[in-house]
Amino acid sequence: MHRVLAGHLVTRFETAYAHLDRVNVDTPIVGRTIEQIKSAGKHHLIVFSGDLILRTHMRMNGSWHLYRHGERWWRGPQAMRVRIDTADWVAVAFNVPVAEFVTPKELSTTDPVAKLGPDLLGATFDRDEAVRRLIASGHQAIALSLLDQRLVAGIGNVYKSEVLFLSGVNPFTPASAVPRDTLERMMDLARGLLKDNVLEGTSGQIQTFRNLRQTNRSMDPDQNLWVYGRSGKPCRRCGAPIEMKKMGIEARSTYWCARCQPQSQQSTVGS
Ligand SMILES: [Zn+2]
Repeated sequence: MHRVLAGHLVTRFETAYAHLDRVNVDTPIVGRTIEQIKSAGKHHLIVFSGDLILRTHMRMNGSWHLYRHGERWWRGPQAMRVRIDTADWVAVAFNVPVAEFVTPKELSTTDPVAKLGPDLLGATFDRDEAVRRLIASGHQAIALSLLDQRLVAGIGNVYKSEVLFLSGVNPFTPASAVPRDTLERMMDLARGLLKDNVLEGTSGQIQTFRNLRQTNRSMDPDQNLWVYGRSGKPCRRCGAPIEMKKMGIEARSTYWCARCQPQSQQSTVGS
């Protein structure tokens, strides 16, 4: 989006959200220049001239699409939440549940973006700070700490299980009981996986397990993963059945192999 939209004038703006429309009526978006489009953790930021930023968050089902004028949309207009046109392109946000206009000052002070931990997808990544924050989360299970965007930004529910499996760490280990060098490797692994998928990601599929025998890209998402979504299926390393448990107040599913990721004596003690 940055490549095709940055530097161009907004020629049309539409939104299904009243709170965005109100800002648009008071301080019109049409006529502003799109200066930059970037990510911060899992937040998507469109920076307009005149100190205004549109922050969106996709959660599970939201997405931004780019179309040429007159091109048929992949989703129906009823799923449109925001539409931004330039002379050559139409950018459409479908089903984004979070969309706010903020000023640069708000973004750096009160906005959720201001509270993000080191960004795994950032140009630079402060690994020491991420590890420090993870350890500081203490007795909280590492699976929950990895999802806490204030500790480290960028890990979603799928990568959480995959990274823990690849690191051989039991998801219920208190964060402060995971050895520092294991946390460091975990961060390197997560950054590598996220970057790979962002570069490849034309299909929107997440892949961490590369099945060498597979010649076609499978439509079944769990074909590409080690443990996520594979409850009851044999572990790809040891054959033991993959386990699943819902954790935390949001009851996000955690998948793991009890044999490859044992709960060690030491780790049950806590810090
Ligand atoms: Zn296993």
